[in-house]
Amino acid sequence: MEEQHYYRDTWAEIDLDKISRNLKRIKDYIGDKTDIIAVVKADAYGHGALETAEAALEAGASRLAVAFLDEAFALRQAGVRSPILVIGASRPEDAALAAKQEIALTVFQAEWLEKAAKCMDSAVPLAVHLKVDTGMGRIGIRHIEELKDAETILMDNGIFTFEGIFTHFATADENEEGYFDEQLSKFKHFISALDNQPPLVHCSNTAAALKRSDAKFNAVRIGISMYGLSPSPEMKQAIPVKLEEVFSLHTQVAHVKKLEKGDKVSYGATYEASGDEWIATLPIGYADGWIRRLQGQEVLVDGKRCPIVGRICMDQCMVKLPFEVKVGTMATLIGTQEEEQVTVDEIADKLETINYEVPCLISYRVPRVFRKDGRITSVKNRILQGFND
Ligand SMILES: *Cc1c(COP(=O)(O)O)cnc(C)c1O
Repeated sequence: MEEQHYYRDTWAEIDLDKISRNLKRIKDYIGDKTDIIAVVKADAYGHGALETAEAALEAGASRLAVAFLDEAFALRQAGVRSPILVIGASRPEDAALAAKQEIALTVFQAEWLEKAAKCMDSAVPLAVHLKVDTGMGRIGIRHIEELKDAETILMDNGIFTFEGIFTHFATADENEEGYFDEQLSKFKHFISALDNQPPLVHCSNTAAALKRSDAKFNAVRIGISMYGLSPSPEMKQAIPVKLEEVFSLHTQVAHVKKLEKGDKVSYGATYEASGDEWIATLPIGYADGWIRRLQGQEVLVDGKRCPIVGRICMDQCMVKLPFEVKVGTMATLIGTQEEEQVTVDEIADKLETINYEVPCLISYRVPRVFRKDGRITSVKNRILQGFND
C-alpha cells in the first residue's frame, strides 16, 4: 500500500509556499549578517518537520533546531544534511551517536561533558552549544564559575568543539521589556566572561528577533512566525513583516439529516433540536486533536459558519447547517472559505490557550498534505507509516 495516500476525508493542508514567503520576509527584515536557525521541533509545530525544514533551508535558513535527539535523527534519516542543533537536554551516553551524525547538542552542566567524554572517541568531535539560564528558569548554567568550568573542559578536550552559546527569553512576546533587558544584560555578562568566543551566539526567538535588533548577535531562532503566526496576541499588531498562516484543517461531510423538534444529538443527548434542523456529521473528533472543548466552535461549510452541536466524539462531531448540503461537501475547521476565515488564533482563543498549541494538538491521525507552487506535492500519513521499519 502506498504511503502517499490517505483513505479518510479529513486532512491538514500545509502551504509550503507560505513558509517560504514568511521566512524570506523575516530574513529580509533581520538582515544578511544574522543566521536563521529554523525551529522545527515537535514535527515543525505539527506542520511536518521534513517538509518544513526543506522549505526553510531553501528560503534562506542556514540551520535547524529540534527539541531532542530523536527529532534530529529522524531528519538525518530522511536525508537532511544541514547543521542541526538539539536545543533541549540529551543524555551524555548518546553524545557519540550525535557526533557521528553531525548533530550539535546543548549542554548546561560541566559534569555532562565529563560523562560524555568517557563515552566518546576523539575521531568525531561533538559540536556543543552551552546554554545559560538568564531568567527563563528551565535549563541552563546560572553562574559564571560553572560556565568557566564547562568552557575549560570543552577547550581542553579534543573531543568537543565549542560551537555556540545561547539563552532563551521568558517575556520576549510581552510589551513590558524590563525583564527582557535584565536577561539580555546577564547574557552579555556571561559572554564577556568567556576566554573563547564560539562562532555562534544566539538568544532571540521570533518575538525578540522581530522587535529587538540589539539582541540578534549572529543567529536567531525562528519558529512561530515561519508558520505565519504571532508569538502573542499583544505582539500581533506590531509585527513588522507580513505573515501568512500556513496550517489549515479540512474534512468532508459524511452524513446529512433533518432533525425534528425534540430530536437529540450525540453522547449524553445534551443537544436538542428546537425545530426542523439540518445536521451534518463530520469525520473528525477528539482523537484527531479536535478536542471536546471545541463544542460550540464554528466550522465553515459552503462559506457559512456552522456551530458544532452536541458533544464531540472520538472520531466524529456534528454541526448545525443553515440549509441542506450534499454528502462530500468540504468543511473547513481552520482556514478560509469564500469570505469567511477561522484562524488558528480563533481556535486558540476558544481553547483558552496559545496558537502554538493548536497545530501541535492536531494528532498523527490527520494526514498532512503539502502544497507547493499551488499543487499538492506530497502527503504524510502517519497511520499507514505506523508499524513500518
Ligand atoms: C521553541 C523555541 C524557540 C522558537 O520560538 P518561537 O517563539 O516559536 O520563535 C526558540 N528557542 C528555544 C530555546 C525554543 O525552545
